[in-house]
Amino acid sequence: MTLRAGVLAVQGDVSEHAEAIERAAAAHGETADVVEIRKSGLLPDCDVLLMPGGESTTISRLIHREGIASEIEAHVAAEKPVLATCAGLIVAASDAHDDRVETLNLVDVTVERNAFGRQKDSFEAPLDIDGLASPFPAVFIRAPLIDYVADDVDVLASWDDRAVAVRDGPVVGTSFHPELTDDPRIHDLAFFENVES
Ligand code: GLN
Repeated sequence: MTLRAGVLAVQGDVSEHAEAIERAAAAHGETADVVEIRKSGLLPDCDVLLMPGGESTTISRLIHREGIASEIEAHVAAEKPVLATCAGLIVAASDAHDDRVETLNLVDVTVERNAFGRQKDSFEAPLDIDGLASPFPAVFIRAPLIDYVADDVDVLASWDDRAVAVRDGPVVGTSFHPELTDDPRIHDLAFFENVES
């Protein structure tokens, strides 16, 4: 089967996500047909969506300007899977406490930008994740702090007693960057039914 995978490409770490979804698909004997989304009209034909890290203020501004925001909302309303990482999670959240980011309310969490971790800039940590048999090498880069999680949102992983990976229906959100490692298991978790860990 070929999975048509949209990668939001208005700004951010696009190629890393494209490679990660291709790796995850190959591990399942499938192929991923990656579509870089910079304008409206492409996402409606995609099976899954990746919302990369980058700069959430820029991503938010551009997806609204280009008419992509409403297509993302329709994708989720149709229960199609989404993986939103770091800035992607900020845009997908219900609120980011920042007027420059018009969030999409796809995941019922609120976030504070650039606020996670003792080292505010970047660190890597082995993370226990629900459904994975061994720790995942999680890379945090100026990561958002998830400061509220609604009752019906599943917390898949926590670090320092804080949620850092969540699932809300078809949407998986991480405050770290699974696309920056060779480990495909988060992309597996988000997009493929049978996770081998
Ligand atoms: N600091 C960025 C923001 O607030 C997110 C960082 C990232 O995606 N690595 O948008």
